Amino acid sequence: MKDRKLLMIPGPIEFTPEVLRAMGMPTTSHVAPNFIEVFGQALERLRQVFLSSSGQPFIVAGSGTLAMDIAAANLVEPGDKALVVDTGYFSERFTAILERYGATVTPVRAPVVGDAPSLEDVEAELKKDGYKLMTVTHVDTSTAVRADVKALTALGRKYGALVVVDGVCAVAGEEMRQDEWGIDLALTASQKAIGTPPGLALVVAGPRAMEAFRKRKTPVGNYYADWTNWLPIMEAYEARRPSYFGTPAVNLIWALNVSLGQILEEGMEARFARHRKLNEAFKAAIRALGLKQVPVSSDREATTLTAPYYPDGVDSTVLKRINEAGVILAGGLHPAIKDRYFRVGHMGAVSASDILTTVGAIEKGLAQAGYKFEPGAGLAAAQAILTG
Ligand SMILES: *Cc1c(COP(=O)(O)O)cnc(C)c1O
Repeated sequence: MKDRKLLMIPGPIEFTPEVLRAMGMPTTSHVAPNFIEVFGQALERLRQVFLSSSGQPFIVAGSGTLAMDIAAANLVEPGDKALVVDTGYFSERFTAILERYGATVTPVRAPVVGDAPSLEDVEAELKKDGYKLMTVTHVDTSTAVRADVKALTALGRKYGALVVVDGVCAVAGEEMRQDEWGIDLALTASQKAIGTPPGLALVVAGPRAMEAFRKRKTPVGNYYADWTNWLPIMEAYEARRPSYFGTPAVNLIWALNVSLGQILEEGMEARFARHRKLNEAFKAAIRALGLKQVPVSSDREATTLTAPYYPDGVDSTVLKRINEAGVILAGGLHPAIKDRYFRVGHMGAVSASDILTTVGAIEKGLAQAGYKFEPGAGLAAAQAILTG
């Protein structure tokens, strides 16, 4: 019997064999000609995946939180005003990071967990004050709430704010068009929808963000995150010249380049469509099983992630049963409702058979936990969409 379980959490996700093979290659020098070529190509491909021809990409060793730190450290000066569109745990992390660099932060929240603030509420706040910067969490991984990045970005720009999008659970899964939508900086981490093991912070900064950085009056308050150190490195590798500031994560960058190549081979539009379809199938299964979700309405639901509440009489011990049935899921994260729901990631190289396997394991776990439902109802609902 295979003893390998399917990892369906919101990162790290399942990686393709080709990406994993790159992780196991003999490590080259960070200035070896073949590595310089790979690093340069990864930077070019990152632009294509973010749909940003005008952006400056940064690939730095660290997690998604470092990518957030890089955005805040380079764009914020003490006393700047920042608006955080607050949809949960990771939006609040952005508030903490921005405050660390001296920003005065105003969070705009929805009244209930599982919702996003209305465009009217965000606009009312933008009107009140001169905000230098606004952050939006594309998919808040704690609640599976998706923000309307396109509309929020348009609003932020209308009032002259730099718009920063935390796309850690979204880039290469959710539809995001950095240039077309006017996003000034978008960021992600390697282990989520972009499909590379954990360890890389990925940032694409648009021209207005780079200009705000160049016009700073004060030095960046973080040595490792400072674009003064990293910009010449990224420019050098893209021009296929050796360069050094901090040793790049050589194998991770080889693996990232493989994954970016696979993403572009699929094509961004096809990739968005595949994520939409698989999400629709999984959400249909969850509804057919009678489970409610944390997002308050379907237009707030993420494409890359689902957060169902446990049904009555079932608690988090069901995750262990689902694990025994072969699928690893994640528990709740938002402090207000942590023990009442679970999370299923479906992004990256995820396939239709992964969706069916996951629904099957959830059904098995729920049945063992004594929950009453028609066995196969979730599978039938998913399959109806997958075969449609
Ligand atoms: C995972 C995640 C982060 C944090 O990324 P780490 O790699 O865990 O530091 C930030 N924002 C969002 C939306 C995330 O999903």
